[in-house]
Amino acid sequence: MGLAARFTVNKMRFDILTLFPEMFPGYLSQSILNKSINRGLVEIHVHNLRDWTTDRHQKMDDRPFGGGPGMILMVEPVVRCVREVQTMSDTPGQVILLTPQGQTWDQTKVEELAEAKTRYILLCGRYEGFDQRVIDILNPLEISIGDFVLNGGEVAAMVLVDSLVRMIPGVLGDEMSSWDDSFSRGNRLLEYPQYTRPREFEGREVPSTLLGGNHAAIERWRKQKSLENTRIRRSDLLPDDEKTDP
Ligand code: SAM
Repeated sequence: MGLAARFTVNKMRFDILTLFPEMFPGYLSQSILNKSINRGLVEIHVHNLRDWTTDRHQKMDDRPFGGGPGMILMVEPVVRCVREVQTMSDTPGQVILLTPQGQTWDQTKVEELAEAKTRYILLCGRYEGFDQRVIDILNPLEISIGDFVLNGGEVAAMVLVDSLVRMIPGVLGDEMSSWDDSFSRGNRLLEYPQYTRPREFEGREVPSTLLGGNHAAIERWRKQKSLENTRIRRSDLLPDDEKTDP
């Protein structure tokens, strides 16, 4: 992998705006994310949207004008919160509003954003979502993690954090991982099959090419398996010149 393949960002800051801040510490205190925070590569600040309400009951939601089910997150505390949080660091950051109506999050977007931004403000919705004026005023990037409806944006925010931090050089043990992974910059295909010890289990042996130590042959095998895998499972990902059957 040449230097050009490395992401230039060396640190990311996330500000997560939510009605349920308690949902995050467990997740953030584990594994790669926790290590990245301890090594100063990632900073995560979780803010309770309710802290930006001004009334005695800390009211964050109200019934929709025009009627209908559920409650809507009110524009005033949300806009106030985002504006104040933006001033908490040198750069205002990219505001991202989690919504099933947004652009679908995929690896290409992860990489584009990781290349362009170092700070992210993630707005987690609840109930029936945000008052439309939150979007009109803040002009956030609206992101969906898929065509289904979650109860809230918190899990979606974790998905964004998790996928973005992998792009910071040094977060993964081996930077080639994020290059070769399925959908990633290496080739945008599905990854090849992987094996580890033992060499044989219940009569199933590891392919001999992977045991021979011939790196060029291993490389060829993996490329071919990656193409086969993609052809079978996700032919939509194949480049045009690979779309016809071999
Ligand atoms: N009424 C909204 C609609 O139909 O578009 C759905 C609201 S949903 C029950 C509550 C919150 O969960 C949303 O405001 C959003 O923050 C989050 N959410 C739900 N599905 C999501 C998805 N697929 N991607 C990202 N966030 C999602």
